[in-house]
Amino acid sequence: MTYVSAEHDDAFDGPACRFCALPAMGDDDGALILTRGEHCFVIMNAYPYSTGHLMVIPYAHVDRLTDMTAEATAEMMDLTRAAQTVLTEAMGPHGFNLGMNQGSAAGAGIEDHLHLHLVPRWTGDTNFITVTGDIRVMPQGLDETYAILKPGFGA
Ligand SMILES: [Zn+2]
Repeated sequence: MTYVSAEHDDAFDGPACRFCALPAMGDDDGALILTRGEHCFVIMNAYPYSTGHLMVIPYAHVDRLTDMTAEATAEMMDLTRAAQTVLTEAMGPHGFNLGMNQGSAAGAGIEDHLHLHLVPRWTGDTNFITVTGDIRVMPQGLDETYAILKPGFGA
């Protein structure tokens, strides 16, 4: 699961926890939040492993899946399914990586606040990623990708 290294926390000037602060900004477009549920939200990864790399994150500041409520866990999966549908319709990926890194030992860049990665993949994209050696494949494309995906969430 090499995509687990695609987490950085060096460009954020806000309060201690980025994943608590972003949904509290009051600016979902600025925060790149695509949609909100009752327990979780869907957001663009600012340091994408691939174009369309999203995360599904609980509002609750918990660091383990086992600390989430059953309701929040169910909604996390529902939002993941919805996000995968949006990505499929908007970008036509050939596959997906889906995963959670729990704890720094497992590669979590932000280890105190659980987050689920949803990474669309295209046949052959690993070659490009390997060559660049840098997960910031196209940071300039974040706003553009956000604009493409946002309507799919019904916002
Ligand atoms: Zn938090």
